[in-house]
Amino acid sequence: MRKPFVAGNWKMNTDSHSSVSLAKTIASACSEIAGRRVHVAVCPPFLYLEAVSRAVSVASIAVGAQDIYYEREGAFTGEISASMLKDIGCIYVLCGHSERRHVIGETDELVNKKVVAALGGGLLPILCVGEQLAERQAGQTDEVVTRQLKSCLAGLSNEKVSAVTIAYEPVWAIGTGLTATPQQAQEVHASIRKLLGEMCNAKLAGEIRILYGGSANPGNAADLMREQDIDGLLVGGASLNADDFVAIIQAATYKN
Ligand code: PEP
Repeated sequence: MRKPFVAGNWKMNTDSHSSVSLAKTIASACSEIAGRRVHVAVCPPFLYLEAVSRAVSVASIAVGAQDIYYEREGAFTGEISASMLKDIGCIYVLCGHSERRHVIGETDELVNKKVVAALGGGLLPILCVGEQLAERQAGQTDEVVTRQLKSCLAGLSNEKVSAVTIAYEPVWAIGTGLTATPQQAQEVHASIRKLLGEMCNAKLAGEIRILYGGSANPGNAADLMREQDIDGLLVGGASLNADDFVAIIQAATYKN
């Protein structure tokens, strides 16, 4: 059975004080359920990863980075490697978040290098995929998501793919307050699982976790989680409010 997984993406928010305070509040509210009934991760900005990791250590909550660079070390000014993230206690890393694809300009090929580097360095990638509004309106959702998955997972063995969590995040739903309906999300999640079955095998497809992301909040989390192929949520805005994030985590325990 796939254990539900809720991850919070804090994006470029918080500071040294508020990141720790938010982490401590979430940890104390979730210490009974985190790790047992639901896996929980928070992804603060790089600068606060270490302090947040210490702050959540009272609960089984993991920390994740929001990005990674694919080289191991060297003259790559401003970049952070897998071994550096691992060194400070990071477990997960977001790869190919839509803001990195569409604001910073990351390509599928670059995201693939990052996923490979993360796995090579012992981190668990959360690979984000999802279509833009015009692509959905043109009926291209499956085509876009298929291309992203095939390109970003290229060259990986089935064993490596099984360590990846997929996050389906329709770009039009991220930070907009527009959520995909549970049915719209379920449809894409089911296609992703089918595709993974074809790319790898049925066992892997049945075990891999597929999260939904895009304006998830305490009001829609339970309905989304009721869908068969939605195994958890990647939460942006609502993860910055401890009460909202904890309510979403509690809603996700529905499946366990
Ligand atoms: C995200 O950043 O991955 C996200 C889903 O953001 P939001 O929940 O704010 O839409």
